[in-house]
Amino acid sequence: MPFKKYDKILVINSGSSSLKFMLFSMATETMLAKGLVERIGTPNANLVYQRDGEAKSCQGIAAENHGKALAMACKMLADPDRGVLKSLKDVNAIGHRVVHGAEEFSDSVVITEDVKSSIKKCADLAPLHNPANLDGIVACETVFPNVPNVVVFDTAFHQTMPKHAFMYAIPQKYYDEYRIRKYGFHGTSHKFVTQAAADYLKKPVEELNLITCHLGNGSSIAAIKGGKVLDTTMGLTPLPGMIMGTRCGDIDPAIIFFLARKGMTIDEIDNVLNKESGLMGINGIGSGDMRDTVNAAEQGKSSADNAINMFGHRAALYIGGYYTLLGGADAIIFTGGIGENSAPARKSIVSRLEALGCKLDEAKNKAVFGVTGVISTDTSKTPAIVIPTNEELMIARETFRLLSATLKK
Ligand code: ADP
Repeated sequence: MPFKKYDKILVINSGSSSLKFMLFSMATETMLAKGLVERIGTPNANLVYQRDGEAKSCQGIAAENHGKALAMACKMLADPDRGVLKSLKDVNAIGHRVVHGAEEFSDSVVITEDVKSSIKKCADLAPLHNPANLDGIVACETVFPNVPNVVVFDTAFHQTMPKHAFMYAIPQKYYDEYRIRKYGFHGTSHKFVTQAAADYLKKPVEELNLITCHLGNGSSIAAIKGGKVLDTTMGLTPLPGMIMGTRCGDIDPAIIFFLARKGMTIDEIDNVLNKESGLMGINGIGSGDMRDTVNAAEQGKSSADNAINMFGHRAALYIGGYYTLLGGADAIIFTGGIGENSAPARKSIVSRLEALGCKLDEAKNKAVFGVTGVISTDTSKTPAIVIPTNEELMIARETFRLLSATLKK
């Protein structure tokens, strides 16, 4: 019954000038079609569209705002030649990614006016993301007036962190007044791979200690005890923790005062730490991409080689700490563009984990590329496992879960 009522679920990830969409059939968890509208609000807006198993197509469109962008995307989904739906009426539900749910949301939620107001309130903590996410929700409410919308927050999965893990050691009044604390991000991905790891290891999630490493342009690591997050590396914002594509990760916060006293403005420093740091800042080739970094290192560029070592060193530091806090781990999971595909980056991390009983198997590591597979030796006490993430499917599953639960009431 729920599959009939909520089979076709549209997943929307709305950014400030882009709107990504993916349509699933939940009966088989099949992705039917996906696409992206880019440069919304400019004369060069365009729609990239792809049916499952077919090549991408790209066309210029008029999309002055998110509503128009969504309307164009939907037109394609119901196109008689290229579409996958007979009619837009076949869309049963919509799942939205929202970046920040602060302390208000520890789970996904069906959209109401109150929920929208709360998302607006949380925009204080994610000024670039939450308003854009809301634009996508409002657009869907207009195009699909009677279809239920569900929100899945990047922060929600991390809300189980205990206070001693999420508080910063700054005066309490800043938490009381502004809710300055660690929130964590990539929660949808950490949750997806946690469930997938439990399936792979054939154990209930409640009985597992996992360390999940989501390594992409943005990277975060989480310690997961019995399916609940104990700690994670990102914080109030997605800037701290791992060395990322262009973000610095952990640094001495006094570097900010130092640079300010040298005459840089707060905005300039913000830009440097978010957009010019990480791999881009240190690899000597001006690219935040791990592939480029690995290529440069292989051609003998020592700064690129150092960047990969810094990346591995930082990750091992967190994995080791989380291993201790968890009291041991059943597995260390790698996911995200780098975690799934970059054998050299994984080697840089796993080769530093022997003290945890996790030893890299070089041949297996080289062979696992974009698929699930073990990359540690058979005798490793703590296996390292690659599991591809699927945040959109997770959002669709959450949407289905919440709406099916309302049917049972
Ligand atoms: P985002 O955080 O933007 O979603 P991704 O998860 O797509 O990012 O990860 C992007 C990173 O993954 C880049 O550093 C890129 O070099 C790396 N990556 C993607 N594909 C490969 C590949 N085939 N081999 C090595 N690295 C890859």
